[in-house]
Amino acid sequence: MEPIMHDSAQKHAPAEKQQGLPLLNRELLESCIHCGLCLPACPTYLASGLEAESPRGRIYLLNLLRTGEIQTDDPALEHIDTCLGCMGCQTACPSGVKYEKILNQARPLLAEARGKSGGRTVLRFVFSSVLPNYALLRLLGFLYIIAQKIGLTKVRAFIPFAPRWSQRLSQWQAFSPQVPSRKNLPAISPARVRDESNRLPPSTVATPEQCDVQLFSGCVMDILYNGVNHASVRLLNRQGHCVGIPAQTCCGALAAHAGEVDIARDLARKNIELFEKTTGDIAVTSAGCGAMLKEYKHLFENDPLWNERAIGFSSRIKDITEVLAAGKFVDGHPRMNAKIAYHAACHLTHVQKVKEAPLALLSLIEGAELVPLEEQEHCCGSAGIYNLIHTETSLAVLDRKMKFIEETGVSCIATGNPGCLLQIQAGAARQGMTLRVVHPVELLDEAFAG
Ligand code: SF4
Ligand code: SF4
Repeated sequence: MEPIMHDSAQKHAPAEKQQGLPLLNRELLESCIHCGLCLPACPTYLASGLEAESPRGRIYLLNLLRTGEIQTDDPALEHIDTCLGCMGCQTACPSGVKYEKILNQARPLLAEARGKSGGRTVLRFVFSSVLPNYALLRLLGFLYIIAQKIGLTKVRAFIPFAPRWSQRLSQWQAFSPQVPSRKNLPAISPARVRDESNRLPPSTVATPEQCDVQLFSGCVMDILYNGVNHASVRLLNRQGHCVGIPAQTCCGALAAHAGEVDIARDLARKNIELFEKTTGDIAVTSAGCGAMLKEYKHLFENDPLWNERAIGFSSRIKDITEVLAAGKFVDGHPRMNAKIAYHAACHLTHVQKVKEAPLALLSLIEGAELVPLEEQEHCCGSAGIYNLIHTETSLAVLDRKMKFIEETGVSCIATGNPGCLLQIQAGAARQGMTLRVVHPVELLDEAFAG
């Protein structure tokens, strides 16, 4: 393999120290045989051409950290931060390297080792107190819509420390989604049952908790793309399901990806306790949340009681497309004349391994032509808040994605994750493309409505 290009990583002699780093597992790291077959599946490697930005390079760096040849403050470890966590490499690796486990061990370790910076304190506050606070999120969503109307770069004029942030705000404007008007579309309120066209006999369901499907409506999804949740409920109702929406909290994915595992655990416990009072499948409309909810057990590997409860909870989690594809629409003929491409969100395709269900739903739409998309399963560069923190790499990854989307000639792209919706929308605006970016369930719902 090519050498990693940081001098600091090369000047130390190999040593098996493991000083204070018991969490990096040798067996996992040494399962990589450095064949490089994962490199063409890695968006950051494709965007930069750097070995250190590849899965193989990152595993090599973490092995150096494990053996004590580099320390946690080594600048080379920034290449771990720039990993999208998309798991394209894990799917591509013929040797079965568990890259997700490796990353899950590395992130909290690095976050902890770097101590409490101002930025980390702010992020911890957002993960623990903003994202789980539904009312506050709605208020922020409202303020966001106002800022969007004014323009983020104009908003900076009202901020005292604007000069330092002005470039960031300009960059972030590139990722600001056009939030649809919510005049007729309120956010899905938790703790309500949505069964307007419920076909089950009323006596079957006494309370929302007894519904056969519970909706995990997500925080970003419900604030920015609540049309997806409404469409999901309508489609579930069309299949005869009763849908409960418990007063859930944030899934904890953003906290876990930032290495703030204690916050992710707290949120996970709340969700597990809440959904244990309900029955049925838990349908998730956001691929990122679904991936996290399906993997709660990893948060409690040293806690047998919660681990068991987490396994029980996760066994009920399904992406909304899985639930709908397994069901049957009792009436109606979905129809729409459109050329559509499908972008497979990483957390749906690589982490949850849900590949067929969204395509099966789209194929139900008469008149719709599904156009193949090159590198359909490659990350778009969104990755939670990655695009706000590593904006340049994110844009480089996005530009490649947009090039392939443009080549399809479609005017509509479907994808199952709010981050991807936001990112591809921003990419279309950047390129001046007229492109509709929607969740597959929105298209199917529209097609049913004619
Ligand atoms: S992660 Fe897998 S595919 Fe990539 S270099 Fe290692 S063994 Fe090869
Ligand atoms: S998770 Fe994605 S970005 Fe990170 S190394 Fe693997 S393929 Fe590359």
